[in-house]
Amino acid sequence: MNFQNIIGNDNIKELLSKSLETHNLVHSYMFIGPDGIGKSLFARDLAEIILCDEKSSCGFCSSCIKFESGNHPDYTFIDSEDGKSIKIGQIRLMQESIAEKPIVSNNKVYIINNSDLMTTEAQNCLLKTLEEPPEYVTIILISSNESKLLNTIKSRCTKITFKSLSNADLEKYANINGIQINSNLFSVYNGSIGKLISLNNEIDLYNSLDLVIGSFETRDIVDIWNNSEVIYKSKEKIFDILDYLNIVFLNNLRNTNDYKFINCISFVELTKKRLLSNANYDMCIDNLLLHVWKYYHSN
Ligand SMILES: [Zn+2]
Repeated sequence: MNFQNIIGNDNIKELLSKSLETHNLVHSYMFIGPDGIGKSLFARDLAEIILCDEKSSCGFCSSCIKFESGNHPDYTFIDSEDGKSIKIGQIRLMQESIAEKPIVSNNKVYIINNSDLMTTEAQNCLLKTLEEPPEYVTIILISSNESKLLNTIKSRCTKITFKSLSNADLEKYANINGIQINSNLFSVYNGSIGKLISLNNEIDLYNSLDLVIGSFETRDIVDIWNNSEVIYKSKEKIFDILDYLNIVFLNNLRNTNDYKFINCISFVELTKKRLLSNANYDMCIDNLLLHVWKYYHSN
């Protein structure tokens, strides 16, 4: 099955698989949707399939072997070189390459990642190619900010809109790739694999904070001091830590309707203000932990 390594957006898998089966792929696609949900991975898979001798990313033909080694002469991935813009020079080079016939496959595929970073000149230049692409060429524009693309560009591409992944999709991805998931963070992941991966770097910190939060339930305040060392030691990450505490308190508020969590959230916000005005760090944290513990036991 095509696109088997891609999680979510099953309707798009079906649509493109059908187009492949019936030889109805168009020459220019635009993949639209939020960052970090797998648009470029999807485009890359589609490119491999289009170039494959068997039209299935078989993994064995000379095209697939070249593709997977990152060395396929008929495949070009274009992105911003300075992180700010895609310039007209890059599009001109692409056009020179497009004019040359494919070498290994019967087709050529060009992906323009972050295509909304193309300058207006670059977009106008690309327009000519989108109007009359050679028969063997497929161009895939990827964008998370469609409004920055000219209407003339958009009208020449078949638009495919990707949706954020469900929590279940994220869990599936995390399991397959050996990534830990913290269910408190689903609202922050916001359906993005990119966000899941970047937050995974701090997963040990978040897990330690779960222990701190768990200890608020205990009657014995000594437990809190024992478990909270991570907060005292992580001064440089304190604003991430405070944001995390409030995410958990907000989740708890939604799940229980218990007003004590509103007090907790307010005190975390007050702590942020105190820290920003250079109050003593340890004293701010002492105060925070004491107050949150008090709110937990106020009923
Ligand atoms: Zn193949």
